Amino acid sequence: MKQVYMDHSATTATDPAVTEAMLPYFSEKYGNPSSLYTIGRQARRAIEEARQHVSDLIGAKKEEIIFTGSGTESDNLAIKGSVLKNRGKGDHIITSSIEHHAVLHTCKYLEKNGFKVTYLPVSKEGIVNPADVEKAITPQTILITIMHANNEIGTIQPIEEIGKIAKEKQITFHTDAVQTAGKIPVNVDALGVSMLSVSAHKIYGPKGVGALYLRKGTAIEPQLHGGGHERNIRSSTENVPGIVGFGKASELAKERLPHESNLTALRDSLIKGVLEIEDSYLNGHPVKRLPNNANFRFSFIEGESMILNLDMKGVAASTGSACSSTSLEPSHVLMAIGLRPEEAHGSLRLTLGRKNTQEDVDYVISVLPDIVKKLRMISPLSR
Ligand SMILES: *Cc1c(COP(=O)(O)O)cnc(C)c1O
Repeated sequence: MKQVYMDHSATTATDPAVTEAMLPYFSEKYGNPSSLYTIGRQARRAIEEARQHVSDLIGAKKEEIIFTGSGTESDNLAIKGSVLKNRGKGDHIITSSIEHHAVLHTCKYLEKNGFKVTYLPVSKEGIVNPADVEKAITPQTILITIMHANNEIGTIQPIEEIGKIAKEKQITFHTDAVQTAGKIPVNVDALGVSMLSVSAHKIYGPKGVGALYLRKGTAIEPQLHGGGHERNIRSSTENVPGIVGFGKASELAKERLPHESNLTALRDSLIKGVLEIEDSYLNGHPVKRLPNNANFRFSFIEGESMILNLDMKGVAASTGSACSSTSLEPSHVLMAIGLRPEEAHGSLRLTLGRKNTQEDVDYVISVLPDIVKKLRMISPLSR
């Protein structure tokens, strides 16, 4: 049977060139980068090369990259690290209601520990209004954290505009760019951010390695204390193979960026084909969205049963986000754009990647109508 992977926002396959670059660092050049002898120095050099590639992908300086264990850790480090550092200046954080759980749950945790958080609403199309950010700022505000693009509905936020506001008010500004780096141009200066999170496994690198961009002069408290690695901000013997893989993946992502933007045509053909199904709708913004993201809702059916039926046809897709798909709670993102719980439950996310073809899109468009029809026939919600 044909196999079609359309869940690239959940994770991607490691590029063969990435795997190849990583291999020597497991059992040949296995030295600890802090050791002074040859294999230690080789590992150190490899890390610094990778740091250059990651910084090049986002227009940063090499010294501004802190390697972490994941995108989730980068978000935690950015948020907790900066509010703990600036505790003396205030206690207020501004974020949006559609952030990834790595940001939202970190903010909830900080609320339990004495901080105040404003969760900004979004438009029906899933966009934060910069004027709302400005209005929410108080003399107590010490951090703004708004994601660059949403992982479920793919909406791209007006980060440049928010960056200008943050700069004018001299407030630390973080963005979660895990879904944008390598898919659309990301430049830390153009965005006007002080901190930015990225993750390797969303850009054809390995799982379990991420990075935080930390603008020179932005002070944060370390969240892992130990031997003083990563400029004393993130102690831990470095994940050398993972970091090398992240470096290679970043280098490839930069080269292939023009092709990623070309996914727009494929995405739009997918959207057009799927919307021919009766009572189907596109979630998110028609234009301000990631080139690889399509998110639909179908009246009267459950996303979970759609995923299982698509799987039987060899198609890997998701409903809500991978993190929420094991819970029966409706997605907080779909609720924030104003959907009713039963509408949110009928959502389907298809995210394209480098290897997807028009043939894949045509296949999905050919199998989906029958699945929807079958599920509606047995649905208690149906008319
Ligand atoms: C995947 C993802 C994360 C988490 O990254 P991990 O490396 O999987 O921990 C954070 N934010 C967004 C927007 C994501 O898509």
